[in-house]
Amino acid sequence: TAATIGSSLIPVINKLHDILASSGTELSDISVPQVAVVGSQSSGKSSVLETLVGRDFLPRGCDICTRRPLVLMLENRPPSSDDDSVEWGEFRHLPGRRFYDFSQIRQEIQAETEREAGCNKGVSEKQIRLKISSPNVLNMTIIDLPGITKVPVGDQPSDIEARIRRMIMAHINNENCIILAVSPANSDLATSDALQIAKLADPSGSRTVGVITKLDIMDRGTNACNFLLGRVVPLKLGYVGVVNRCQEDIYKNRSIQEALSYEEQFFHDHPVYNGVSDRCGIPQLAKKLNQILEQHIRKDLPRLKAVLNSRMQVAMKELQTYGDVVESKAEQGATLLNILRRYCDDFSAMVDGKSQEMSTK
Ligand code: GDP
Ligand code: MG
Repeated sequence: TAATIGSSLIPVINKLHDILASSGTELSDISVPQVAVVGSQSSGKSSVLETLVGRDFLPRGCDICTRRPLVLMLENRPPSSDDDSVEWGEFRHLPGRRFYDFSQIRQEIQAETEREAGCNKGVSEKQIRLKISSPNVLNMTIIDLPGITKVPVGDQPSDIEARIRRMIMAHINNENCIILAVSPANSDLATSDALQIAKLADPSGSRTVGVITKLDIMDRGTNACNFLLGRVVPLKLGYVGVVNRCQEDIYKNRSIQEALSYEEQFFHDHPVYNGVSDRCGIPQLAKKLNQILEQHIRKDLPRLKAVLNSRMQVAMKELQTYGDVVESKAEQGATLLNILRRYCDDFSAMVDGKSQEMSTK
C-alpha cells in the first residue's frame, strides 16, 4: 500500500505511547502537529489531502467544492484484538454517530456544507470538524480550506476573495501549522496565489512545502522542472510535483491505488521528471511530510523528558517517606526513565539519519 502521511511514524509513536502509559502520562501531552492546504480554487488541494490520508472521502471537482474549512482530526487508536483495522469517522455536529463507510462521510460533508453555506456556491468560515479514529493514522490535524477565488458567483458576496483570504490566514498563522502551498502547473506558477498567501503567514518559508499539481496537463513543450528545483521561488522545505486524479477519474470512481500507479508510471516515463524523481509523486510528498513531523515530535521530546523527570522526583520523595520496604518501586521508576532516555536517543539518531529504525528493546 501507499506510504501515507504519518505511516512511518506510527510504530515510533505507539512505542512512546506504551512507555508513557506505564508512567501515567497521556499521549495527548505531545503537541499535535497541523497540516493545512492553501491555493486557488480547483488547484487540487482536496485531491492531494485525500491521497495523503489514503481514503476517499473529500468532495472534489471542477467547481467550488470545499466551501467551509474542514478540520480533520486524525486520532491513533492502538489496535485491539476485536477491531484491529476498523476505521471510523465522527463529526462534531453529530456526536455519538460513527461513520464506517467513507463515501457516507463525503455525503455528510456535502450535506453539512449546504446546511450552513446554502446550495448555491456560498462559503462559510464555520468549520466542519471530523475525527477519524484508526490504528493506521498518526495523531495530527489536517485542514482542508476553500480555495482563493476572485469573481463572485452564485450566492457569494462581492468581497468573496477578501473573506476567503481571511479564513485561510486564520488557520495558517499558527506557528505549529505546516502549510502545503498547492499550485497547478497549467497556470502561471510565478504568480501562484498559494505561494503568495503562504509567504504572508510564513515569511521565512520555514514551514511551507510547495506542491505542484496537474503536471500531466501542462502546455506541451513546457515543464515545471525549474520550479521543482526551487530556481524560481525558493522554499527551504522544497517542492514536490504530483499527478492527481482528473475529473474523468472522479466520474469513473477511479481508486487511490490506481491513481498512484498511474502517477508512478507517468513520472517514470517522462524524460524530464525522470531525472528529478526525488521531487515527484505523492509518496515523495508523504515522505517529506513524515520527515517534518519527525522533527516536530523530536522538538517536543526534551519537554516530555522534563515532565517525566519531575514526575520521577515526586515519586522518589513519596517513596522516601515509606522507608526501605518498597525499594523495588524506585527501581521500576528508574528503569522506566532509562527506557525513555534510550527512546529519545534512538529517535534523535533516527531523525539525524544515523540509524534506520528504533531499537525495540
Ligand atoms: P481544490 O478545489 O483545490 O480542492 O481541487 P480539487 O481537488 O477539488 O480538484 C479540482 C479539479 O482538478 C478536479 O476535477 C480534479 O479531478 C482536478 N485535478 C486535481 N489535480 C489534478 C491533477 O494533478 N491532474 C489532473 N489532470 N486533474 C487534476
Ligand atoms: Mg477542495
